[in-house]
Amino acid sequence: MRQCPTCSQELDRLTPFCPACGSSLQSDDNERTILTNAPNAMSPGSPRYASIASSAAWVQSQSSEDSGFASGSVVGGRFRIIGLLGRGGMGEVYRADDLLLEQAVALKFLPRNLAENPDRQARFYGEVRIARQVSHPSVCRVYDVGVIDGVPYLSMELVEGDDLGSLLRRIGRLPEDKALDVARQLCAGLAAAHERGVLHRDLKPANIMIDAQGKVRITDFGLAVLVEHTGPQEKRAGTPAYMAPEQLTSNTVSIRSDVYSLGLVLYEIFTGRRAFRADSVLEVERLQREKMPADPSSILEDLDPVIERAILRCLDKDPAVRPESALAVAASLPGGDPLAAALAAGEMPSPEIVAAAGGAGGLRRGVAWGVLAGALAGMGLLLAVSGQRYLVNRVPLHKPPAVLEDRAVQIVADLGYVDAPGDHARGFTTDVDYIDWVRHHQHGAQRWDGLAVPRTAAISFWYRRSPERMAPLTTETGGAVSLSDPPLLHSGMLSVVLDPAGRLRRLEAVPAQIDSSATAASEPDWTRAFTAAGLDAKLFSTAEPQWVPQAFADRRAAWVGEDPELPGVPLRVEAGAYRGRISSFQIVAPWTRAERMTKRPLTAQQRGAQTFVGVLLFLLILGAAALARRSVKRGHGDYRGATRIALILLVLNLISWVLSAHHTSSPNDEWSLFVPCLGVILFISTLVWLLYVGLEPYVRRHWPDSLIGWNRVLAGRLRDPRVGRDLLLGMAAGVLMLVVFLLKDLIAARMGEPSLPETTLIAPLQSTSGILAMLCDLQTGVIFEPMVMLFMVVSLRMLVRRPAVAPVLIWLIFSFLAGSGGESAGVVTYVASAIGMGILVTVLLRLGLFAAIGTNLVLATLVAYFPLTTDFSAWYAPAATVGLVYLVALLVYAFAASTGRLLHVRRAIIPG
Ligand code: ADP
Ligand code: MG
Repeated sequence: MRQCPTCSQELDRLTPFCPACGSSLQSDDNERTILTNAPNAMSPGSPRYASIASSAAWVQSQSSEDSGFASGSVVGGRFRIIGLLGRGGMGEVYRADDLLLEQAVALKFLPRNLAENPDRQARFYGEVRIARQVSHPSVCRVYDVGVIDGVPYLSMELVEGDDLGSLLRRIGRLPEDKALDVARQLCAGLAAAHERGVLHRDLKPANIMIDAQGKVRITDFGLAVLVEHTGPQEKRAGTPAYMAPEQLTSNTVSIRSDVYSLGLVLYEIFTGRRAFRADSVLEVERLQREKMPADPSSILEDLDPVIERAILRCLDKDPAVRPESALAVAASLPGGDPLAAALAAGEMPSPEIVAAAGGAGGLRRGVAWGVLAGALAGMGLLLAVSGQRYLVNRVPLHKPPAVLEDRAVQIVADLGYVDAPGDHARGFTTDVDYIDWVRHHQHGAQRWDGLAVPRTAAISFWYRRSPERMAPLTTETGGAVSLSDPPLLHSGMLSVVLDPAGRLRRLEAVPAQIDSSATAASEPDWTRAFTAAGLDAKLFSTAEPQWVPQAFADRRAAWVGEDPELPGVPLRVEAGAYRGRISSFQIVAPWTRAERMTKRPLTAQQRGAQTFVGVLLFLLILGAAALARRSVKRGHGDYRGATRIALILLVLNLISWVLSAHHTSSPNDEWSLFVPCLGVILFISTLVWLLYVGLEPYVRRHWPDSLIGWNRVLAGRLRDPRVGRDLLLGMAAGVLMLVVFLLKDLIAARMGEPSLPETTLIAPLQSTSGILAMLCDLQTGVIFEPMVMLFMVVSLRMLVRRPAVAPVLIWLIFSFLAGSGGESAGVVTYVASAIGMGILVTVLLRLGLFAAIGTNLVLATLVAYFPLTTDFSAWYAPAATVGLVYLVALLVYAFAASTGRLLHVRRAIIPG
């Protein structure tokens, strides 16, 4: 029997290394760590290089004489030496008991013959300095340094196990699952070092320990350097057999040279063979320069090709082709969770890694069916009660817009306005003043019944004309003409407002600026206005005029009386005329607001909410700009994602503008119509870009799960099961929120204060282009709002620094905003808002951004944009159906995607 010269262990003849202490039983230069002065100029071909390389002179510390610490001896008054654990090129490692702390530790001593060498000492301390910067479960912790008997030592975590080198020699290769596990830990540990700017430079099986639990520790940072100190090294350092080609030839080291070494280690773990076998450094170098290692699958036939590819990519001769980081290696291994790997290493995961995380992420079929059925049932319920819940259905909106327009034209013609208009426009407005008045003055179960009376119906039709083209002054309506924009300033401009029954509510006409007619002012036929308004002049008596027309009038008149449609409601009729033609008319009811004098009254909560939102948006912009700057500096921003989303919004907004702006045939006018709107559109896109670049990295780092589905959407993976799942669950949550609000309204009605029906948009329902524009606008807000919400959570989290506080704060803020935005803002409203917002915040933080977009999509579609109706004869029924069909189609699509079916569809179409 042979005996180990180091620890006297009896040896099996075949082992090249002592299984007890790990010391080498043969001399193999290529496996030894070396550190030598090797000037840059020295090329592999130079004779000097060859002589140094082939002589043993450059391999230092081969002496078999150890520092001579006997087992059982107490050194430095603190450590009891238990035995030698191993010996590498740079030191001897002992197992020892720390008598002070009563802990087992590993002590590494500089070999005695090098203890006096100042260069070696400095390097030894450097090892501790660098190793202490890295803290990761897969990196051996180094505690401290000291000197015992003139020999410097360092103390470190004792790893109870084997180094990978001995392990592989003992058992050949690791089984694939075990090897994968080790590989992932190695990647994470190495990535953690790289994250701190530390290059290991000497990664090899002998420097990797595996403990009894199979946990990996990367040890021996004796050659590690900080990235910023790299550049061509004046010292050649490393272990030739594990050095990257560029490290051997030009001494350049980088993260990618560590990745090369990692690749060699992985090769060995999986195949049990060395990638390159050589007897000398020169030979290693030649092989690495000229050959690729044998394919791992030629050694191990059933090796997963994905693993093989991952390993070979690390071993590419060109560093630029190798994976850019250890995490990228982990990501390329099968079944790995690169996101977890990235987070474990404290590294910023890339958007691609986030998109790749979370597995397929679909739903089980039963669950998907259940959610789909629930969502459809909820929508069915909302449809069933839509007759009561939507303002359009409550108001007698029987006449289609074309009929109302015809009425309007006739009325103005009857009043003497017969000139052919140069330009005209029409639309609907919601009569907010009536709604506010009911809120404050009408109580009880019947408070909204006035909506069904044409005279008080809170929806008005408007028609306006102008001799010249009308150009809106503001961008609020996206380039469309509204009742108030452009204001009635030009001679010949005229606007009328009709009730849904087609009767005159209001008229305003601007007379010519220069009056050259000789006719004196004459009394007009006031009864024409009464006829147009459908009022009975006999029920009204003349009164002193109070309301002043906006445009000049040479005659004014007023009446007070009642309309049989509104018994008990005192009405005033105010009118003005110019040169015998009625030029202004208005029915003044108790709720009519003098809008040129008084602002719409807001409750304190509403005003508070408005201020809050304003300030918040302002802060968000500032914060986003500052953070975007930081992201750009650190290179963390997801520019591709940001640009995509900004472009999507830009295109949607542009389409919407094309569809809904009040276009003209004059390029000049068109240009001045376009530019201000383009300004707003660009502002929104830029803001989103800034927000995204600035805040998204923070989300990616701290709540990466919330971006998985979203990043897949941005990557164009629309059939992805996770995308389907997010959309399906998110939309179902949206339906649930609407059902909660429905219940709230039922309770409020029970309590005698029925809420205002949903006020959706009406004007766009008139035309196909309007409906398409609504679909575009819808997406913009739907995407933007949850993003802002997520970013607010993140910003708050940065401020409060307590992970749980930010979501709760956001929930409270949004509950308040939603509660006070609503009408009566009673306890019921706040409670319902709190439940609803609880659902939204939960969806956002648990299911992710894309799911919250789904939730918001349902809310926006059915609350702000499209009404629902069961009256299929209504003129707006086709448009209302579009909204419904859109949601149902998306739900079904999301369902199909979530169960993974769409992936099969694709495969069936494109084989392979
Ligand atoms: P060198 O710098 O000389 O290569 P290493 O730090 O690699 O020294 O240690 C040499 C050997 O000592 C390793 O191969 C391993 O077997 C053993 N060893 C190193 N660190 C530890 C530790 N923390 N716990 C247990 N054994 C260790
Ligand atoms: Mg070592």
